[in-house]
Amino acid sequence: MTTRGIVEAGLSLQCRALHHVYVVEETEVTALDRVDLVVRPGETVALLGPSGCGKSTLLSIVAGLQRPTSGQVLVGRDDVTAMTVPELLSLRSNRVGIVVQNPGRSLLPYATPEENIAFAQRGANPSRRAELPGAEELLDELGLSALAGQRVHAMSGGEQQRVAVAVALASAPGLLLADEPTSQLDDANRDSLVELLAQANSRYGTTVLTVTHDEEVAQAHRRYVRLRDGRIERDDADIADLVGVGEDGSVVLPEHTWTSLPPGSTARVIATVDGVRLVRDEGQDGRR
Ligand code: ADP
Ligand code: MG
Repeated sequence: MTTRGIVEAGLSLQCRALHHVYVVEETEVTALDRVDLVVRPGETVALLGPSGCGKSTLLSIVAGLQRPTSGQVLVGRDDVTAMTVPELLSLRSNRVGIVVQNPGRSLLPYATPEENIAFAQRGANPSRRAELPGAEELLDELGLSALAGQRVHAMSGGEQQRVAVAVALASAPGLLLADEPTSQLDDANRDSLVELLAQANSRYGTTVLTVTHDEEVAQAHRRYVRLRDGRIERDDADIADLVGVGEDGSVVLPEHTWTSLPPGSTARVIATVDGVRLVRDEGQDGRR
């Protein structure tokens, strides 16, 4: 893949005690309440939760579009909350792509997708820019060639949302943020947009964080994080449950699983579509 060399193979994201309060006419609204979140490189995360729970606020802070009241955001090793405005522009031109909630407004309406992509790529660092895919090539890779040459303003909402994803991927970011990218789409358009996000992840290794209300969209992600009232209510892939597979294939099981699979016991390894299942071998260890 042409862009593989320059993609940072998926950027990690860390929010540390991320806190955001909006003040409107002396009334304070706490949108994020000391959120801690770790997303590993190449993970795909669906960010869920009721309207007003802080999802868009989280995304816009991660993309450096607004500054948090307190707390820290690290993208890769870099502290977004400490960046200057030019550094934030560079962050969004090179490392973080964002599809905002109504992407029609973030595109150049009288331009074609190719022109929108070229416009998005103009801010990339010169060394990277030389290696970025051309607009036609990118549209082709993403299965959007049919939209080439058309003007954005004449496109349907679904087409515009797909172009917005292509534009967000134009500078081969290591982290893609998408805020309700399918909210205005019918099922067929939704499915092709979900496919697009999955492709970004599988082709380029891009880390993906998608805000959605749609269960079908969420299911295309490997981890669900649920926000409520500015706090993480549930995280279905808690970091405590993640294990690394060593160079020699070894895995150290998390301690909370030792009751069902004690150290020293024997387990049968059952391959599944997305990994393996470990089942205690009753022949070796039939005690309960
Ligand atoms: P979500 O995306 O989950 O619907 P938001 O992040 O948009 O949630 O909003 C979180 C809370 O912050 C809500 O109570 C919302 O009304 C408030 N809020 C969001 N943006 C602003 C703003 N620009 N000014 C004041 N309050 C805001
Ligand atoms: Mg929102």
